[in-house]
Amino acid sequence: MNRAEDLEVAGRTVLVRADLNVPLDSGAITDDGRIRASLPTMRDLLARGAAVIVCAHLGRPTGDDYPARAAGGPSLRPVADRLAELLGRPVTLAGDVAGESASVIATTMGAGEAALLENVRFEPAETSKDDQVRGELAGRLAALADMYVGDGFGAMHRKHASVYDTPRLLPHAAGQLVLAEVTVLRQLTTSPARPYVVVLGGAKVSDKLAVIGNLVGKADRLLIAGGMAYTFLAAQGHRIGDSILQADQLGQVTTVLADAARAGVELVLPVDHVVADRFAADARPEVVPGPDIPDGTMGMDIGPATRDLFARKLADAKTVFWNGPPGVFEFPAFAAGTRAVAEAIGAVTGLTVVGGGDSAAAVRHLNLPPDAFTHISTGGGASLEYLEGRALPGLAALEDGT
Ligand code: ADP
Ligand code: MG
Repeated sequence: MNRAEDLEVAGRTVLVRADLNVPLDSGAITDDGRIRASLPTMRDLLARGAAVIVCAHLGRPTGDDYPARAAGGPSLRPVADRLAELLGRPVTLAGDVAGESASVIATTMGAGEAALLENVRFEPAETSKDDQVRGELAGRLAALADMYVGDGFGAMHRKHASVYDTPRLLPHAAGQLVLAEVTVLRQLTTSPARPYVVVLGGAKVSDKLAVIGNLVGKADRLLIAGGMAYTFLAAQGHRIGDSILQADQLGQVTTVLADAARAGVELVLPVDHVVADRFAADARPEVVPGPDIPDGTMGMDIGPATRDLFARKLADAKTVFWNGPPGVFEFPAFAAGTRAVAEAIGAVTGLTVVGGGDSAAAVRHLNLPPDAFTHISTGGGASLEYLEGRALPGLAALEDGT
């Protein structure tokens, strides 16, 4: 894979596909982590005299055609403003993705100048399943620049026009963020130092079953918490009250439990809980000793005994991958489990990787020192698919022909 740092970019226009998909609250950016993670590549290209055109998506615009989507938003305007602040130079926001406005900007911008195209998902073709439809948009994007740099790791698992088709049309290379992510994920998948402990949480077991299946053959211990743990506990015959259950996953979860037992992988589930009678920030937290959850209450976080158990299971780890908060950390009364797990991982000496948008947000939200982990991945779905052993279309396109 070519590295963006090795491209001769002086006086050239470079299209950088970045992942700037930040959370917004009434138009304000609540966590700019993904923008910050994208800066090194942009700064390097700009400093070496490139004109940099950034392409990114934001949220999920809806509507049948471009005008409907552009009218509904979200616009990348707040991202352009934040990016300009962080880069310390103006960032021109195009009035479209790859139309008249974008071409005028592309042909008039100079060395060391930066521009951002509007939300690429305003173009319905971006996510089309039809190769020709995507190809047409890719052609318009490629016409804006001399070279392509793929640095949007969080979108690398998508076979989208700006991720998968555009790099095929231009000389291309991987940006620093993508290279850093791949280096770490490769370490996790090829001979990780042992014990290798994986902590999985989050809301839905269905999102994570494939990665659990793959990790059963690789990790020494799987610590399972968060919403997904209740489907596991239910599969073992425990009562789970009103906790989230994915009943259609019970069969698969039972298979995972059997596979783990056969493979000699230690699968550790919560042994106590913090419950509430409703899903709300001001619900009263109550500790339930033991794995069963009383009727009329729902599991919101792991209990104190589970926090200690998980910390013990992490203490001797040499490699840790953590995806998914073990409790509803957004509500302070139910954040203790997430904090305890994060601190236990922070104390590990060895490779510690956090993957997943909400997990990364939890780390920042809890104000843990940023250097407590070796690497905080910007790509939730992308890092999980990599660990599942699947080829990421965006990476494959960058590797191709180089
Ligand atoms: P990531 O983005 O890190 O992959 P997920 O998207 O899988 O994580 O899950 C994050 C969500 O899981 C959080 O919003 C959190 O509130 C939720 N969650 C964690 N524990 C529970 C629980 N016990 N019940 C319901 N939701 C939970
Ligand atoms: Mg998430």
